[in-house]
Amino acid sequence: MSLEIGAPVEFALPNKVISGHLYKKGTRRNRAQVIDASNKIWRIPEHFLKVKPGPNRNTIVTPVDLERSKYRVGDLVSFSLHGDLFSGKILKLNPVRAIVILKSGDKWTVPYHTLNLVTSSKTPRPSADRLNEISSQARNLMDSHGLHDWNLRFDESKRFLGKCNYRDKTIHLSRSHALDGKDSEIRDTILHEIAHAIAGPKARHGPKWKTIAKQIGAKPRASFKPDA
Ligand SMILES: [Zn+2]
Repeated sequence: MSLEIGAPVEFALPNKVISGHLYKKGTRRNRAQVIDASNKIWRIPEHFLKVKPGPNRNTIVTPVDLERSKYRVGDLVSFSLHGDLFSGKILKLNPVRAIVILKSGDKWTVPYHTLNLVTSSKTPRPSADRLNEISSQARNLMDSHGLHDWNLRFDESKRFLGKCNYRDKTIHLSRSHALDGKDSEIRDTILHEIAHAIAGPKARHGPKWKTIAKQIGAKPRASFKPDA
């Protein structure tokens, strides 16, 4: 079965059939991930998935992407658990949960949707819409350079700003870069990765990639930070 990221798929549960799009391929160890119309992510062994006819969904901003983008390290937050209200400070923004440290020193791992913002840290804060804005900007740039069948995803990397995954035909953008970076830097990162996608895996940052980068308006240099 040839299963592409973004492809329409369905799978059967005992009582119903779920339709969605492939969000992440499965591996021998890990289940595939399917995102449904309400943006819920299901983890299912890949061989249970059936490809359906229909258009791919190549750009995905998950609800967790948006929830997480409201918070910054240092924010004071509250959350309730078993009827008690807790408050503390955000220590770390993990992919699906924040680490919150209470006055007592206890650390809790808390899903973003259960947090309430009490006081913001001083760090400037973009709105959650920023992520949608950047995703449509990236999508438009990708489409205008012929990458219609390439996917766009945000991820947690601190190590790189952008990444080009040829196997999954996916351009990854670092979510923290997207939220905190300057417009011009983000645009350059997107174009940089588009140039990689067009140039192919062997080109790396060599002459072929440089020529394409210049043509499409990216700075023809490796990166602000190393990328893959
Ligand atoms: Zn690069």
